Amino acid sequence: MEKPVRPYKNISEFRYQLHWCGAPEDLQWPCLKCRGRGCPDCEGTGNGTREAVLAEYRKAIALYEIEKQRWNELEAARRSALKKLTTKEIEALRELGI
Ligand SMILES: [Zn+2]
Repeated sequence: MEKPVRPYKNISEFRYQLHWCGAPEDLQWPCLKCRGRGCPDCEGTGNGTREAVLAEYRKAIALYEIEKQRWNELEAARRSALKKLTTKEIEALRELGI
């Protein structure tokens, strides 16, 4: 498991990445379903709601926070385990590619 990376710096970056590449630049809150293209859900406007975009952003960040927490716990366990080993034991494990 690699160290998790925060998927978006902030809501602006999330909003930007959410936009379909051909969406108008003044589109503030793109429809989550069509990303601003226009679909039956947004009645062809491409507009979503601020609340829906924020909720999606918070969901993505919450998932990242869970992964980060898990990674921190594993990292702490790894460090604690390594402290119990001798240099020779660590060397032996490295040779195995662990
Ligand atoms: Zn739509």
